[in-house]
Amino acid sequence: MPSASVTARSRTRSKRRTLRRTEVTEEPESGGVAGCAIQDVVAPSIPLPLLASNNPCSSGNSLVSSSSSSSSPPPPPVGGSNGEGNMAATASSSSSSTSSTLNREPSPPLIHPPSIVAVTGSCHQPPYDLRRKQPTSSSLFVSHLSENSPQTGTVPAHSHPCCGGSATEAAAGCSSGVNSPSPAPPSPESPSSMLPARKRPRKCTSTLSSDSCESGTSVAAQYLQYELPDEVMLTIFSYLKEKDLCCLSHVCKRFQILANDCKLWKTIYQRLFEYDLPMFRNTSGTFDVVSVDDSEYENPWKMSLMQLYKGIHVREGCKDMYIDNLSGRNIVCVDSIGAAISIGGDNPLIFVHANKYVGESLVIDNNAEIVGAACGNIAENVVFETDRESTVVFVEGSLNSYLGYVTLKFSPDLGASNAPHQRHYCLEIKENCSPTVDHCVIRSQSTVGAAVCVSGAGSEPVIKCCDISDCENVGLYVTDHASGTYEDNEISRNALAGIWVKNHANPIMRRNHIHHGRDVGIFTFDNGLGYFESNNIHNNRIAGFEVKAGANPTVVHCEIHHGQTGGIYVHENGQGQFIENQIHSNNFAGVWVTSNSNPTIRRNEIYNGHQGGVYIFGEGRGLIEHNNIYGNALAGIQIRTNSDPIVRHNKIHHGQHGGVYVHEKGNGLIEENEVYANSLAGVWITTGSTPVLRRNRIHSGKQVGVYFYDNGHGRLEDNDIFNHLYSGVQIRTGSNPVIRGNKIWGGQNGGVLVYNGGLGLLENNEIFDNAMAGVWIKTDSNPTLKRNKIYDGRDGGICIFNGGKGILEENDICRNAQAGVLISTQSHPVLRKNRIFDGHAAGIEVTNNATATLEHNQIFNNRFGGLCLASGVHPTCRANKIFKNQDAVEKAVKNGQCLYKISSYTSFPMHDFYRCRTCNTTDRNAICVNCIKTCHHGHEIEFIRHDRFFCDCGANTLESLQCQLQGEPTADTDTLYDSSQPTESHTLMVN
Ligand SMILES: [Zn+2]
Ligand SMILES: [Zn+2]
Ligand SMILES: [Zn+2]
Repeated sequence: MPSASVTARSRTRSKRRTLRRTEVTEEPESGGVAGCAIQDVVAPSIPLPLLASNNPCSSGNSLVSSSSSSSSPPPPPVGGSNGEGNMAATASSSSSSTSSTLNREPSPPLIHPPSIVAVTGSCHQPPYDLRRKQPTSSSLFVSHLSENSPQTGTVPAHSHPCCGGSATEAAAGCSSGVNSPSPAPPSPESPSSMLPARKRPRKCTSTLSSDSCESGTSVAAQYLQYELPDEVMLTIFSYLKEKDLCCLSHVCKRFQILANDCKLWKTIYQRLFEYDLPMFRNTSGTFDVVSVDDSEYENPWKMSLMQLYKGIHVREGCKDMYIDNLSGRNIVCVDSIGAAISIGGDNPLIFVHANKYVGESLVIDNNAEIVGAACGNIAENVVFETDRESTVVFVEGSLNSYLGYVTLKFSPDLGASNAPHQRHYCLEIKENCSPTVDHCVIRSQSTVGAAVCVSGAGSEPVIKCCDISDCENVGLYVTDHASGTYEDNEISRNALAGIWVKNHANPIMRRNHIHHGRDVGIFTFDNGLGYFESNNIHNNRIAGFEVKAGANPTVVHCEIHHGQTGGIYVHENGQGQFIENQIHSNNFAGVWVTSNSNPTIRRNEIYNGHQGGVYIFGEGRGLIEHNNIYGNALAGIQIRTNSDPIVRHNKIHHGQHGGVYVHEKGNGLIEENEVYANSLAGVWITTGSTPVLRRNRIHSGKQVGVYFYDNGHGRLEDNDIFNHLYSGVQIRTGSNPVIRGNKIWGGQNGGVLVYNGGLGLLENNEIFDNAMAGVWIKTDSNPTLKRNKIYDGRDGGICIFNGGKGILEENDICRNAQAGVLISTQSHPVLRKNRIFDGHAAGIEVTNNATATLEHNQIFNNRFGGLCLASGVHPTCRANKIFKNQDAVEKAVKNGQCLYKISSYTSFPMHDFYRCRTCNTTDRNAICVNCIKTCHHGHEIEFIRHDRFFCDCGANTLESLQCQLQGEPTADTDTLYDSSQPTESHTLMVN
């Protein structure tokens, strides 16, 4: 019977069903073992001592001597008390917890009854004691025996469903054993007469015994079958082999349970296979070690033995162990792997036992299944080693072959020329084959070839759970249209890359652990492909993942970290999809993209890099999308040297440097990102760069929002830029961006600051709620502002200082706390067609030798006045409409109030200011005209000029004099400033 079908059938059984196994009809199929074993079984007639065949190779040599001493059945319990036997069995089984550890140890050759019973308990079988259900009076036995009903022919039919239901040969084997007359009339001491026994005591044990045997024989059989204590029975059974046990299990329910004892089978199993734990061939054709506790089988040792029974063993000098004529055991055992393959046919199952197999290069062209067999660490104890040819080669024809649990070593003579082994590898898989290589340890000393080479069309291996480490070249090399699946491998400390994928190779690699390589972790190049999922790639000396020269891998759910350079390096027309990876803690950038490469970087977490997050340079491209980029030491995204990526929907935050850094002619489309909480600028644009930034949210930075400097250009459109500790946008030193449709608010140092020769076109922006100024134009800068709305500033609307220029057209400037437009210190802007209104101070103020061209502006409803010109200032004014301003300064002067009442010390109303020589101690104090008239009446005074001051007299900053106008600000001024002190009630008394 093919073992595969046995496997499939037995797999369908669940542990639930085993609960019903107390019925004999539920006895599991004995499968291959019983099926093939019992055909030629003559076991019933074999005297027990002979069955204890001695195993020359097993560790149980002591069995030889000890077995002779126990060759006769142990004496029955004194008095034959069933009750006593019960108690013994119960006591033994109750010790199972303490002896369960014994179960894990290599089985002692001679089984001592207490541990047997204990193990029985731990192998899912309840402690057996059918005697409990037996008639206890000996008279009943006698009466049963005297019935003598002949039942021989029907015995196997109803009592052997185990073999009859599953394997007809087994049934035939058993029934032949029963039907044939006992080859030797059972002598009184021979236990063989028990075999034809019934499961019920009232039935006669056999016609033969009833006819020809003395009643004493029947009593002996009865005694063996029902009354001998379990531990004694198990000791007897321990001398039997697998086929004998299968037969015994057909005798009666008690034997069935005893003969399925886990410990018995474990002993047999471990002598044949050496495994510490049962090995199973699973449905996918691979082999797995399964712990007894995790097994779905009641007796995993027996099930494994059945599965693997047809195997050929490569075990030097142990042939005798696998062949035993008495028990019918006939397992093939040879001395070399080559011999096993040559006699195995197309589909041999070969167990290679612990040894070092040197110089035997293995070429596999069929469906051989080769499995290491050893105790302890299996693979470490089964070593294949060569020094010239590849250690193992799979070639065409090996479609379903398997190699598992061995060590492969390729150890070329490093002193010789490299040439002889440069085309040779530890493991080589060629075209049109699909072997599985599993749980192998792979070590190559070749400096000129990979440890594992998979090449050629149709090369589709499964390589899993292997350890490819400490090799002197690449660990795993997949090339030339090969594919295959590579899972759960350990690939570490190799001299070159952990993995190479090249030339249209397209492997699937999952859950590999690739680390501490002395080169990159994974290198895909020359049009290599591949799907890489959930690999852990770290601590490699170069990048974790390198893509070069047309390679196009897909990398998902990998963790790429602690690289000694970068995380991912894509260059020379590299492509690739990097999706949902964790890229962190690398020494250089998390991702490098350069030299016309165009990868897709999506939904990754890129963080804690010792340099930047994503670094695109040297004409790199790429789609950088939906990533979470944070906590990197340099910029979250750096775009440089003619690179032109698309950067969308990322979160770029909490960097120790800037968010996005575009420099040296960098380009890029940067859209809908959220850039926030970075230590330096949210976005830096410099040195000839021209990126396009659209619909980003750039906020909460610890410096500037968007920073254009040193010829930074580009377009800034429809962004929200807010809550920066410096200004929202800064433009300086030759930068000339287009800034259109943005909302810029909450800047602590202004909304937009243009200075040091900055240019720029600002159009249709909303600039509001900024401190200092909505827009600063300073120091020789010359921007153009068109159709912006600049409002609700916490200070001025537009402040033009220090030689600032600028063209301001059609802007609406309103509701600002200070002047709508302040033009000062040698500045020379042009203002056309602006509307400047509803300001809480003046509309336009021109001072400090500034000039200006003011044409067609409308200036209205500003509190201090419309156009306020300081002494000596002569702007060019043409066709401005200045109307309905509140002229609060004029009115205060007329009303004899101190101007401090309307300005406080935070505002600078423009009017005539004086100095009092009598009171002044410094040149910096200015006094309003009404204080001069009142507080300083009769003092020596001096007109300073018409300009922007607040009144020091009213502010009571003059040490020698108390202002008589009590110039605390009036109630409405404190609404201008959060920072103003609440107005005290006594100021109301003044009015
Ligand atoms: Zn005053
Ligand atoms: Zn005064
Ligand atoms: Zn004075």
